[in-house]
Amino acid sequence: MRRFFVDKIRTSGGLCSIKGSEANHIFRVLRMRQGDHFILMDAKGSHFPARIESASHREVIVTLERPLPKPPPSPVKITLCQSLIKSRQMDYLIQKASELGVDYIAPFFSKHTVVSVKRDRLANKMRHWHEIARNSAKQSCRGTPAEIDTIRPLEKLVVKLKSTNSLKVILWEEEKSRDLKGLLRTSSPISKFVGMVGPEGGFSQQEIEVVRAAGFFPVSMGNRILRAETAAITLVGIVQYECGDLGLT
Ligand code: SAH
Repeated sequence: MRRFFVDKIRTSGGLCSIKGSEANHIFRVLRMRQGDHFILMDAKGSHFPARIESASHREVIVTLERPLPKPPPSPVKITLCQSLIKSRQMDYLIQKASELGVDYIAPFFSKHTVVSVKRDRLANKMRHWHEIARNSAKQSCRGTPAEIDTIRPLEKLVVKLKSTNSLKVILWEEEKSRDLKGLLRTSSPISKFVGMVGPEGGFSQQEIEVVRAAGFFPVSMGNRILRAETAAITLVGIVQYECGDLGLT
């Protein structure tokens, strides 16, 4: 069944109106018409079976049935802190991390970040990332899309996260004594996880020390040096598998 998304579902006389790009997508791209069915989701994670009463490229009007039961949230809340990487790779990372159920993405600048976002482009960039997260939520049938924070310098992000009561790790390919596998298997049940991943050029030794001082464990994911987006997506998948809901129980 197709799924569409609106921020807030408002009904009037049992009917709900869908406008904007979703209406255009339903009508023009998918050519759905009166009598067709789909699932309508909102930002609170509600899912309603919907039936089209009328459709145009500007507005689709549907009747809604009773909401479907909400899937239970993952037992682990995951925050992914990612140093900015090239645009296409960052989009890919946001898409895949969202599909895998990351709750929060915090982009940041660090010493070796080579990508910059001009001030006047920031709002557009954020809109673009939110759209990707929303589409991923639709695709993966998750209730609420991943939240994406504004871009901060690494030092400010670390201050913000310092006091959170989470297992916090920074992926560091030069770490020689602690790996992610060992850390996850020896930690007590984890309900909140924060993972930090560097840019294409990696972290500096000094950055590792600053982040370590804020309670992050530097961990290795083995001898292969992964691209930043591969490292981030692998990290989220592993945490969801070990502590979250990548499974049926
Ligand atoms: N500095 C490196 C590569 C950086 S890879 C170089 O230029 O050779 C980008 C980011 O991915 C790193 O900052 C790190 O956070 C993560 N990463 C990649 N491979 C990793 C591994 N094997 N273990 C831990 N982290 C890794």
